[in-house]
Amino acid sequence: MKTWKTLGGIRIIRILSGRSNAFLVTNGTKNILVDTGCGFEWRLLKLRLNKLTVYHLDCLILTHSHFDHAGNANRIRKTFKTPVIIHCKETQYLASGSGPVPGGTFAWSRAVVKMFSGLARSAGGFRSCRYDIAVESVYELRDFGINAYILHTPGHTAGSVSVIIEDEIALTGDTMFGVFPGSAFPPFAEDPKQLINSWGKLLDTGCSLFLPSHGSANRREMVEKDYHKRR
Ligand SMILES: [Zn+2]
Ligand SMILES: [Zn+2]
Repeated sequence: MKTWKTLGGIRIIRILSGRSNAFLVTNGTKNILVDTGCGFEWRLLKLRLNKLTVYHLDCLILTHSHFDHAGNANRIRKTFKTPVIIHCKETQYLASGSGPVPGGTFAWSRAVVKMFSGLARSAGGFRSCRYDIAVESVYELRDFGINAYILHTPGHTAGSVSVIIEDEIALTGDTMFGVFPGSAFPPFAEDPKQLINSWGKLLDTGCSLFLPSHGSANRREMVEKDYHKRR
C-alpha cells in the first residue's frame, strides 16, 4: 500500500486503489478513514485494515456521496461504530443510497453521461447510511487527534470536500483527478466553474501534494499550471 508521510509524522496510506482510492490517515494511535471504495471492495477493505492492525477508526470522512466513495460507509459505521462525517449538502444522498449524477466535462464523458442516464440510478446506487456530523465550510479534525481539517471544495458535487493534512498534503476526492498526464481536471462535474474556484482554495492551503480519489498524486506545480490555464 502506497504511503506518504508529513513532516509532522502523519502517515497517509492508500488502503484501496484501482476503481477508486481510499486513504487511512494515522499518527499511530488515531485513525481516520477517508472514503470507502465500492460495495464489492468490502472484504478487501476489511482485510487491508486488519493487515495494518487497525481495529478502531476515530471517524470516517466521505469526500462526497458517489457509490465508489460511499459504497462501504454503512458497513464501516456498523462494524467499527465509527462516526460518519459528510458535507451538509450530501446527507440526503447518503440517506437514500444514491448520489447526484454530475455532467460530463469532456465530449467523451458527456456521451457517457447521456448513454447511462437511464441506468444511472441503479448503476450509482449503494447501501444507504446515516451520518453523524454534517460539515459546512471548514471542519477542524484536531478533536479526532489528527492535525488536519476538512475544507468544502464544491464543483464535482455541491457538497464535495477535501481533507487538508498539516497544510502539506490534501486528499481531494473527485475535485481533482490523477489519471490524465499534465491535468487534474475531472471528467465529471456538476459545476466546472465552481470546481476551478475550489482548486484556488486548495492551492491557498499551501499544500505541495494533492492526492485524488482516482489515479496518482498531483504535484503542486502541475496543478498551478492547470489552474491558471482553466480559470
Ligand atoms: Zn464522484
Ligand atoms: Zn469518484
